[in-house]
Amino acid sequence: MEKNTSTQIQPAPSLKGRAGGASNSPAFLTVPRQEAGYRPIHDRIHDFGEVEQTLNTRERKLQASRCMDCGVPFCHWACPLGNKPPEWNNALFKGDWELAYRLLNATNPFPEFTGRICPALCEKACVLNRFNHEPTTNREDEAAITEMAFQEGFIQPHTNIQRNGKKVAVIGAGPAGLAAANDLNLMGYQVTVFEKNEAAGGLLRYGIPNFKLNKAIIDRRIKLLEQEGIEFKYGIAVDIDHIDSLGHIEFLEKLEKPDAIVLATGTPTARDLKAPGRELGGVHFALELLSQQNRVLAGIEFSKEERITAKGKDVLVIGGGDTGSDCIGTAHRQGCKSVTQIEIMPKPVEGPVDPQNPWPNYPRTLKTTSSHEEGCTRRWNINTLEFLGKEGKLTGVKVQEIDWEPNPNGGRPIMVEKGAPEIIKAELCLLAMGFLKPEHPEYPANVFVCGDSANGASLVVRAMASGKQTAEKVHAYFQGK
Ligand SMILES: Cc1cc2nc3c(=O)[nH]c(=O)nc-3n(C[C@H](O)[C@H](O)[C@H](O)COP(=O)(O)OP(=O)(O)OC[C@H]3O[C@@H](n4cnc5c(N)ncnc54)[C@H](O)[C@@H]3O)c2cc1C
Ligand code: SF4
Repeated sequence: MEKNTSTQIQPAPSLKGRAGGASNSPAFLTVPRQEAGYRPIHDRIHDFGEVEQTLNTRERKLQASRCMDCGVPFCHWACPLGNKPPEWNNALFKGDWELAYRLLNATNPFPEFTGRICPALCEKACVLNRFNHEPTTNREDEAAITEMAFQEGFIQPHTNIQRNGKKVAVIGAGPAGLAAANDLNLMGYQVTVFEKNEAAGGLLRYGIPNFKLNKAIIDRRIKLLEQEGIEFKYGIAVDIDHIDSLGHIEFLEKLEKPDAIVLATGTPTARDLKAPGRELGGVHFALELLSQQNRVLAGIEFSKEERITAKGKDVLVIGGGDTGSDCIGTAHRQGCKSVTQIEIMPKPVEGPVDPQNPWPNYPRTLKTTSSHEEGCTRRWNINTLEFLGKEGKLTGVKVQEIDWEPNPNGGRPIMVEKGAPEIIKAELCLLAMGFLKPEHPEYPANVFVCGDSANGASLVVRAMASGKQTAEKVHAYFQGK
């Protein structure tokens, strides 16, 4: 019998009629949430290996047993992919890892990515989170199920695909492009993915640090996609600014003559901070540091002049989000002297409940990542005034404490200065203030846009969901719907 494939969509067997929750017992009342946790700081801080640990099989199954199989499972609603944690948690609890993977893979093409780096919107929406702030461990369960599926050989390339004679070019090999390419390929389209970088993954590979996502995990999936018939062409920046009225790109016409094009090109432009001194050596966009570090770990060499390193430096990260946090972890591993992270907005509320975004919405509460735990001064309500330097090199950043006051005319609160400006000593400053949403003209009907490029900078799970939805749209286009 053919084994389950990496991508094959299996109908979920009906689990209706099973009594009680995943465990058939109120395990959520007796088994506390247990996270695998991180490697100890003294151990992880000196390498770029993944920081997250794993539970043993018994503990993992026990965690899966906590799922209540709610009548109205908010986790389905919260997950952009519509993943069904109660179904695969049930299979996992019963020890049927293969079924658990099939159920998971029915909605999630690459659960080994989300299992590692998804912020787990589903867990925030879990009814147990409302009940006692101890939601099920869906994200970790997802990673465990997928690793077991690879280990046991449940994931095999699907090679018996009936081709339909249509060609699709996917531009960009990030999670959105990969998800679109995967579904289109399984539907029978001949898919070629064009990627300007030297390898696939987009921000999975050249943004997210190795200590959150080991790049061998991406390589393993790309190998499967290649075996399933997707062609990858690297080192090609396709000119997407010149698409003619027939949906043709000159370069692709000479090469492939695709019948449809999917643009999955992400958000290439980082938000800049145009303060005096921006040109000083030592002021960089976050991705300059992060992508270079990931390339160094992949064995690519940089000259001393090109190399961006935090070694022996006081580092200032401007921007309080996840990209900033990744800079902190990277700076630690490079051997920085200190790290400070500043944010212009106020400190988010602490604790599990965000009154502005009540359950089952995702709470915008204070997030402390593994990188923050490794050591960092965090400050909020800080505006950046000027980059200061000597002989062309950054020595410090002049900042100003501010406050936000309600706008008497309504709308955005007004920023007011508080106290005197101060200087934060820094030889390396990283700008982590987000990315600009690309603008797209109205394209011909055979050109589609997905992922961050369509929706603005977001999450891997949303990019994948967008890629899958776009594959459906491409298919509907060819079917004349
Ligand atoms: C530092 C950092 C950390 C993050 N951490 C997380 C996290 O922990 N969890 C999470 O869920 N999300 C995280 N995100 C967000 C997440 O990575 C993105 O939302 C997601 O990767 C977007 O996927 P995408 O495929 O739309 O775009 P991208 O991943 O940006 O991929 C776009 C691809 O298109 C290629 N490309 C662009 N233009 C062209 C062209 N003209 N020709 C050919 N190729 C082209 C690019 O080289 C790139 O490979 C993080 C983002 C950053 C920056
Ligand atoms: S992809 Fe993210 S939100 Fe969806 S089930 Fe997995 S962890 Fe939850």
